[in-house]
Order: sequence, then C-alpha cells, then structure tokens
Amino acid sequence: MNDRAPVVIGAGPAGCRAAATLAAAGLAPIVLDEAPASGGQIYRRAPAGFTRHYRALYGFDAARARRLHTAFDGIQGSIDYRPDTLVWDLRRGALHCLSGGRSREVAYRDVILAPGARDRIIPFPGWTLPGIYTLGGAQIALKYQGCAIGSRIVFMGTGPLLYLVAYQYAKAGGGVAAVLDTTPFAAKRRAVPGLLSGGSTFAKGLWYVAALRARGIPVANGIRPVAAEGKDAAVAAFLYRDAAGTQRRLACDALAFGFGLSSETQLADLAEVPFAFDAVQQQFLPERDLAGRTPVRGVYLAGDGGGIAGADAAELAGERAALALLEDRGHEVGKPRLAALERALRQRAGFRAALEAAFPFPAELAAGMPDETILCRCEGVTAGEFRRAARALDADEINRAKAFSRCGMGRCQGRVCGPAAAVVLAAALDLPPERMGRLRGQPPIKPIPMAVAGTHE
Ligand SMILES: Cc1cc2nc3c(=O)[nH]c(=O)nc-3n(C[C@H](O)[C@H](O)[C@H](O)COP(=O)(O)OP(=O)(O)OC[C@H]3O[C@@H](n4cnc5c(N)ncnc54)[C@H](O)[C@@H]3O)c2cc1C
Repeated sequence: MNDRAPVVIGAGPAGCRAAATLAAAGLAPIVLDEAPASGGQIYRRAPAGFTRHYRALYGFDAARARRLHTAFDGIQGSIDYRPDTLVWDLRRGALHCLSGGRSREVAYRDVILAPGARDRIIPFPGWTLPGIYTLGGAQIALKYQGCAIGSRIVFMGTGPLLYLVAYQYAKAGGGVAAVLDTTPFAAKRRAVPGLLSGGSTFAKGLWYVAALRARGIPVANGIRPVAAEGKDAAVAAFLYRDAAGTQRRLACDALAFGFGLSSETQLADLAEVPFAFDAVQQQFLPERDLAGRTPVRGVYLAGDGGGIAGADAAELAGERAALALLEDRGHEVGKPRLAALERALRQRAGFRAALEAAFPFPAELAAGMPDETILCRCEGVTAGEFRRAARALDADEINRAKAFSRCGMGRCQGRVCGPAAAVVLAAALDLPPERMGRLRGQPPIKPIPMAVAGTHE
C-alpha cells in the first residue's frame, strides 16, 4: 500500500515542482491536470503550432517559465502525467476523473492538491453583458490564443492582475481605454514599507503602472463602479464615480474586471479538510501547516489552492509539500533544505499581507450592491431577491441562503458568485462575513456532461 504512486492534482508551478521533487526521490507520481499542457495560469503554454517566443508570451517571467517547462518536460519518463484530465470528485481514497469523454476512478493514498485560484469578482449592474470578462479571462484570450477581447477596453477592479493584464494588452497593441482601480491611492502609499520586501515583484508592479501612464492611458484610483451600459446586445460604456464622487461615462467595446483571486478549495473540502476564516485573504481556507500538511492524513496542499501567495511561493510550497509527503513515508529528507524552504515561504507570506493591504477586497461594494444587480448569473438571482429570501426565511448561513434563493446552485456551484454573496448576506443581516460560513463543495466541482456523471469505470 505504501508503494502506491502519490497523486498530484494540478500542473502549475506548485504541482510541477511537487512532481519533480517526488520523481527525484524515486517515486513516480501520477499528475492530473484539466489543462492540455503544464504551466498553470502564469506559465500557461500556447497551443501547438503557435510560435510566439518566451519573451513575448511571459515578459519578465520568461526565464522562470522556460525553467519550469524544461524541468517538467525533463521528468516525463519518470512520472505518469495525464493532461486534459479534470478531477471532478474526490472520495476518501478515490478520485473521479473526466478525460476523453469518460469518467475513470484513480485510487490514491497520498494526494497533493495544487489546483490554484480563480478570479474574485463583485457583480455590478450590467456585468453579464457580452463583452465583459474577468481579468483572468481577458489574459487567457491574449496569452493562449493571441486574441484581444476588444479594441477599446476598460480594465476595472483592484489587485496586481489589474495592472499586469492592462499592461500586457497595451504592449500587445490592444486598445486600453483606461485602468480604473477601486483602491484609493492612500491605501497603496501606506502599504509601501511592506511592499518593499517583495523586491523585484514590487519593482515590476511600479514598472507596469509607469508604462501604462507613459502610453497616455488614464489610470485612476479610488473609483466606484456604477453600471455597464449595452448597445446592440453588447457592452458599449462603463459608468463610474471617480475619487471625488463625480459620475463619469467611458465608451468601450469590452471590459475586464476582477478584485483579486480566490483559492480553489473544493477538492480540499471534499477531502474533509477543516476550514478556517483567513482575515488577510477574507476567505475560508483549508487548514494546513507551513509544510502543506492538512489535518487529514495523506492530503497535502500546495500553491494558491491553499491560500494566495503567487507563483514563486507556489513552487516553494510544491517542493515543501512533496518533501512532507516523503518524510511521512519514511524517506530521509535534508533538514537544511526544509528550513530554507520554510524561511522563504514565511518571507513571501509577509509580502502577500502587504499586497492585500495595498489592494484590499472592497467588501463595501458587495455589501452595497444595488438590488437589481444579477448576483448569481447561473440561476438569474438578483441581489434584491437574495436579500429578501435571506431575511424572510431567516437564512443566517450561506448554505441556507443558497437553498432558499438558488444563488450558487448553478453550473459554477458558487465559485463565481460565492465570495460576493457571502458579503451581501452578511450586510443584509448586519453580521460579520465570517459568520456566514462558506458554500460547501459539491461534486461535480466543475461542469461535466450529464452522460458522464453516472458512468464510472
Ligand atoms: C486567471 C489567472 C491568471 C493569472 N495570471 C498571472 C500572471 O500573469 N502573473 C502572475 O504573477 N500571476 C498570475 N496569476 C496568479 C498565479 O497564476 C498563481 O500565483 C500561480 O500560478 C499559482 O500556482 P499554482 O500552481 O498554485 O496554481 P495554477 O498555476 O493556477 O495551477 C493550477 C493547475 O491546476 C489545474 N486544476 C485546477 N483544478 C483542477 C481539477 N479539478 N482537476 C484537474 N486539474 C485542475 C489547472 O488546470 C492548473 O493547471 C494568475 C491567476 C489566475 C487565476
């Protein structure tokens, strides 16, 4: 039983490094990833036949991307890598995986969960109009397919990705109409002492802002979204209030928005890992120690799936979790390496806290969401309907509110609307968001064809 191959879910920076560490120790891990190629979000590879070189695709991160790709390609003979494989359910000892239109069971004893993160959004009136994307979605269009989402694009929200994606579009020749940040400039200035610990990462952020301004692109802080307006069934303008409270209207043919990232925690939930509210990230996160061990034996967490920390930290965490797994299997593991990894992870946690202070999740926007705003687009539930259901039926917990309103019950299982819905509910009941609990993970954690759900092999 002890020689059963460990499983790694996710082939981003965390999963790739975990797999390489296990392979170096002589284990041949099974690596499952729903994407067609390794690299994860940041080092996503272009499809076969695309010829853009590393510098054009990954900018400052080109050398890191090449190193990760080369290392992962180099261990192909020592691992069992299964791309295009979605893990849609996890039961004790068994993973249910969709690949090639069939669902198969993969037995596991030890699993490293490295599923990464997704965009965190706050709905606003008109956000479901065609032409409106998340920041990550807009980036994937550009990075993966070399497509722009529009020719006059407004970038709105907050967080490092806001400036990075706007910069990538501007550099690629895309039409950036404006970059509108909900965080007031003063909050960023206050966070500078902590941000300095980020070294080159902080410097890159400053560079992106400077490069946007140098191209004459308006960059505004402290804005408040009002609404997106449509024409001919697509977004045509964005209305917002500037820092002084004046309402402004910007013509556009596309909008990309997001307010930081949320960890993908459903697999940890299905593995019965306990969760706790994380005040820095403002999200319930699975419990794990610095080594990535969870309270559930044989279940380890690495990378953004255990808490947002960025790509470099994800690699370190992937190696640390793999070493924890090896230690738990009785392998000899070098103590100086463990200490170095943990020191580096602690240092990055400090920088992460500073980033959260520089780009705080604007919970007040969710709390004050106008009643007519569609909160759950899968089920077409407005913020007003959600509030009324919660108040009328005494739903003082997010899963009860979901049952009474259908908010979070559709295809995305609350992955999109959940974070904002918890804040809307808390504000409606005048309670702190952590009292609302979290939407329980339910299989399938991502949409799968009906024909597959009942036919396991
Ligand atoms: C859309 C998006 C764009 C980003 N762009 C940048 C950027 O340009 N620069 C930057 O510095 N940071 C970026 N980030 C943050 C950065 O990607 C992460 O900090 C870093 O990639 C984390 O590495 P990871 O290995 O933890 O997760 P990821 O890189 O996200 O990798 C997770 C992997 O797990 C796979 N996976 C997830 N769930 C399942 C499942 N159920 N079954 C099978 N496979 C699964 C995914 O396909 C993915 O390959 C981005 C984040 C997002 C969400």
